[in-house]
Amino acid sequence: MSQPVVRKERLEYNKLQKRLRRQVGSAIADYNMIEEGDKIMVCLSGGKDSYGMLDILMSLQKTAPIRFELIAVNMDQKQPGFPEHILPEYLSNVGVPYHIIERDTYSIVKDVIPEGKTTCGLCSRLRRGTLYSYANDIGATKIALGHHRDDIIETLFLNMFYGGKLKAMPPKLLADDKRNVLIRPLAYCKEQDLAEYAEYKAFPIIPCNLCGSQENLQRQVIKQMLTDWEKQHPGRTETIFSAIRNVAPSQLADTNLFDFAGLRIDPEAAPQEESEEDAGVQQFIPALQVS
Ligand code: SF4
Repeated sequence: MSQPVVRKERLEYNKLQKRLRRQVGSAIADYNMIEEGDKIMVCLSGGKDSYGMLDILMSLQKTAPIRFELIAVNMDQKQPGFPEHILPEYLSNVGVPYHIIERDTYSIVKDVIPEGKTTCGLCSRLRRGTLYSYANDIGATKIALGHHRDDIIETLFLNMFYGGKLKAMPPKLLADDKRNVLIRPLAYCKEQDLAEYAEYKAFPIIPCNLCGSQENLQRQVIKQMLTDWEKQHPGRTETIFSAIRNVAPSQLADTNLFDFAGLRIDPEAAPQEESEEDAGVQQFIPALQVS
């Protein structure tokens, strides 16, 4: 490879790393994800996103004005062919404290779920339970998960289309057991950026199809829909994410979120100045009047 190409690649890499660091830093600040003295259990699956999360958190740890601990945790679920040596080698090399939890959830899932049915639901529940209780055992104050912006948006549409609910995946969450706080430091990061970062860094990715299960079909449909939208209307994904951060409960219809029943006119309210939008509407009123 010629020198200018190498230099260009280096520049691109630096830009990408800066962007990811900035986005992770903003998400951490916006949601107060990390506080002085936190012990953060970073969940590593061996996929590109969790490697990226750990890498960026380690780099922020070096320059952060507060002190916090990181401990990388992976769960070896005993899927056939799981390459046990990869994560310990990588984690020792980068010098982060780590622990591998060995639990054969693969056999449980195979016993319980009939052949041909998707196993991800039960598998993730078992994994979650084990990780949460390990976090309590080691006194972790936060659990960091590697979900990114696109995961959050996909979840929004999954819940809307298939669950009839307007909810996504929050950047920070108190778990149902009320004993764990989950954080998603990649909440502002694009999946594409994380994929490129993983390539630049040559993370030793562990394939996620060892269990033989397919990605949830409904999620695949949503992913395709979002990809098509983004192609036709560049920037749409970012706009959707902005919408998740700008919710107007009074403009929706959930009586638990807004007191519609209690709405009353305010006799003291002064007449409002006409907005440009209203002025535009006024032009049409004569045309709409029925004679
Ligand atoms: S893809 Fe396999 S390992 Fe991953 S959640 Fe689904 S069943 Fe579990």
